[in-house]
Amino acid sequence: MSRPCFIDTHAHLDAGEFDGDRARVHQRTRAACVDTCVIPAVHTANFETVRLLAHTQQDAYALGIHPLYTPQASEADLMQLDAALHTHRHDPRLVAVGEIGLDGFVPALNTPQALAKQQLFYTAQLKLAQQHQLPVILHVRRSADLLLKGLRETRVVGGIAHAFNGSMQQAQAFIALGFKLGFGGALTYDRALQLRRLAAELPLSAIVLETDAPDIPPHWLYATAEQRAAGQPQGRNEPAELPRMAQVLADLRGISLEALAAATTANAREALPRLQ
Ligand code: ZN
Repeated sequence: MSRPCFIDTHAHLDAGEFDGDRARVHQRTRAACVDTCVIPAVHTANFETVRLLAHTQQDAYALGIHPLYTPQASEADLMQLDAALHTHRHDPRLVAVGEIGLDGFVPALNTPQALAKQQLFYTAQLKLAQQHQLPVILHVRRSADLLLKGLRETRVVGGIAHAFNGSMQQAQAFIALGFKLGFGGALTYDRALQLRRLAAELPLSAIVLETDAPDIPPHWLYATAEQRAAGQPQGRNEPAELPRMAQVLADLRGISLEALAAATTANAREALPRLQ
């Protein structure tokens, strides 16, 4: 029997953390049977980088302006996004508008003025996704209710709420709007009781897997504050870790790794229909 294969629906493989060994990271990814990674852009300056990387590595990509990059973004960036979505509209590797959303966690982004700017970029990018008929990849951090409000006002074809960590009620609201929920490294911590319960109880049809590499390291890569004080760097997450995270989720749900792999792969293709 062949090994189960996976799609990593969220990996920032263009990040500087991979500059020293990107090709080896890619080899390990495929060796782990992670067939496709979705590489989301975070600002217009990395649009070409993620597009070229997706083509070089036979992965997929998304174009968008991340909420953490809205303070320095301008109207011209939205025009550039619109133009890029148009230019690459026949590119099968362009699978979504993302990473977009709202961040309710970073204090500097939550002054009334900064929040208004986040909201402006979120709404404008939902409209672009609607016009270009693309799903969206959402950054959700203490912002689920505001994101849901935006989705009710500007209907898009669906997408993924990435690194989801909200309530069951919020999860069901995203699902009702045609979204899947992304789970990854955060699940691997024993203390993540609420998140683990959610991932175990949600319908399997609502779940996609992701690493968010190089961020959200699983517990086996995580360096504690003590270890970091002693000079050990924080662990770097990568797509090759996805099968082990998937095993944690399969165990939580009491199903086989094969069944989880098959379902989450189908779910990722449903959320992002251009994924081959
Ligand atoms: Zn991300």
